[in-house]
Amino acid sequence: MEVRCQCGTVRFTTPTPAPLAVYHCHCTECRKQSSSAYGTSAIFPAAGLFPLSAELAAALGVWTRPTDRGGEMDCYFCKSCGGRVVHRIREPDGTERDVVSVKGGLVEGLRWEGAAHIFTRSAVVEIPEGVERWEAEPGDDSMPGRKGLEELKGDGATTG
Ligand SMILES: [Zn+2]
Ligand SMILES: [Zn+2]
Repeated sequence: MEVRCQCGTVRFTTPTPAPLAVYHCHCTECRKQSSSAYGTSAIFPAAGLFPLSAELAAALGVWTRPTDRGGEMDCYFCKSCGGRVVHRIREPDGTERDVVSVKGGLVEGLRWEGAAHIFTRSAVVEIPEGVERWEAEPGDDSMPGRKGLEELKGDGATTG
């Protein structure tokens, strides 16, 4: 899938033709991150995107914040338009996660209807009828992209 930031400076093709999972996250961190009601994360394998190409590394800035689990989250954004592009977690021991969160609004052709709504306890908008929804993080360990969820769990921890 093609990813393109708002100004078009940052462009890349996702490592796989479809995300492992898509989440609409209503936690307060995602609300601030997206500057909007909630954040959408499309979870992809890190391999094929990281290590970043020289071109992408030059176009992206990074802001790093601690996670509640003692690791760090690298939040990459377009230096030109400022939009968040991709997030990646580092564990407390420095190990980088093998999945990343690509910000959903940048993924062209993303299928939105199958996404799960998570951290709905913090939602400021109505959750549609009939969607998969979780008060906090999903409870099903068999879900695809489970490891990607760890990032979202970190996001949610500050929600209380
Ligand atoms: Zn841009
Ligand atoms: Zn979140």
